Amino acid sequence: MFGAGLLDSREAVREATLAVARRTQQAGGSGFDLWASPHFLVAHRNQLTLDAFWCGLEEGLVEARIWGLQGCVVVDAVNHFGPKHGHAVLNLVLPNLPTFVKGFSTGGLEGSPFRDWAPVFDRARAAGLRIAAHAGENGPGSNVREAVLEGGVARIVHGIRADEATLDLLAERGIPVDICPSSNRALAQDVQPHPLPRMLRAGLRCALGTDDPGVIPCDLDTEVLAARLMGLDEAAMATLRRNGAEDAWCLVEAETSPQAL
Ligand SMILES: [Zn+2]
Repeated sequence: MFGAGLLDSREAVREATLAVARRTQQAGGSGFDLWASPHFLVAHRNQLTLDAFWCGLEEGLVEARIWGLQGCVVVDAVNHFGPKHGHAVLNLVLPNLPTFVKGFSTGGLEGSPFRDWAPVFDRARAAGLRIAAHAGENGPGSNVREAVLEGGVARIVHGIRADEATLDLLAERGIPVDICPSSNRALAQDVQPHPLPRMLRAGLRCALGTDDPGVIPCDLDTEVLAARLMGLDEAAMATLRRNGAEDAWCLVEAETSPQAL
């Protein structure tokens, strides 16, 4: 997330949130689901308080709303640190969870089986959070299936190594899949050609997203360009935008009806 070391104050977190809002607006979007790592910044690096972190986010989200943008936060845990770490993240955030936090997600390396994460996901779900997982990018395609069937994950980030049967499962259940071509190019070079056109043909609810721009330079424009270079036509590009607008968690309980992202 933007070079984590820079996020050392309420003001810096507010600025980072507004930077996301600005980029969303420039790309013609109406909202953003922002993945954030409070445990890493507050407990691991100890570089600001949890209160400062939430306040900075809230101020940024309130200002973004004045610009006409909905925003929400998805709290991130590191998969390869294992479920014990997942519980530590929840221990940190659940006692005083702001209403703008809508989801919980694993990121990082897919080193710990999703079935082991199920109790963490259950706990987050019981607290009213939606569950996502980065799966099937740096780990095997079977992780996508396991995340859905054993972890009860409601949204997949990447999923590009999923086999045909798993694509059918995702399509049947209408599970949103976030596609970040720049991240895939950096972390899954062997997956060629990119399966996005195939995923759309299989009826998956794919949308374009950006992975950590502090690690992998990207914004929505680079991802749109990458999708076009895969040969997607205007109808497919419109489907990606519509899925993004319909499935974004920031828009789920918003009073205003979703507009095209
Ligand atoms: Zn990722």
